[in-house]
Amino acid sequence: MKSKNKFSLTVTSNSYNESFVRVAVASFVAQLDPTIEELCDIKTAVSEAVTNAIVHAYKNDIGKIYITTEILENRMVVIKIRDRGCGIPDIKKAMEPLFTTGDGERAGLGFAVMESFMDKLYVKSTINKGTTVTLKKKLSIRVTN
Ligand code: ATP
Ligand code: MG
Repeated sequence: MKSKNKFSLTVTSNSYNESFVRVAVASFVAQLDPTIEELCDIKTAVSEAVTNAIVHAYKNDIGKIYITTEILENRMVVIKIRDRGCGIPDIKKAMEPLFTTGDGERAGLGFAVMESFMDKLYVKSTINKGTTVTLKKKLSIRVTN
């Protein structure tokens, strides 16, 4: 599908940047005039993916998180969140609801949330090389008068 617009952003895995990235992606997607609900869904999914990079990928250190957001034809939005952190040993297991390697604060629901709020979720990961999360959502057609 043809690309209509794209932005790339690299941030440090500082917890402040979770909200920054969420707002940056939402501001970019706003050009498609999404519904409030669609925008909330995208913000929530992006938050989960960025939080995972901060708390899991770079657990004991600080690294970079690479974000791209692309608008394709037919109101398709593709968001990629990549880290160069520890990687995920068993992706299938990691994506199961309630599975977590985190502490008591973690519910193990991040991937389940991304999956339910977006149309597609793809996870690619290599141990000690990092993880790429791809989120796709096709926005509804807006009728204006
Ligand atoms: P919650 O998101 O509810 O706070 P969680 O982060 O543990 O809890 P998920 O987001 O579903 O739950 O992630 C499941 C597990 O997958 C994590 O506990 C972690 O082991 C692994 N994981 C997720 N993202 C990454 C990543 N970017 N790098 C390394 N491991 C990851
Ligand atoms: Mg999570």
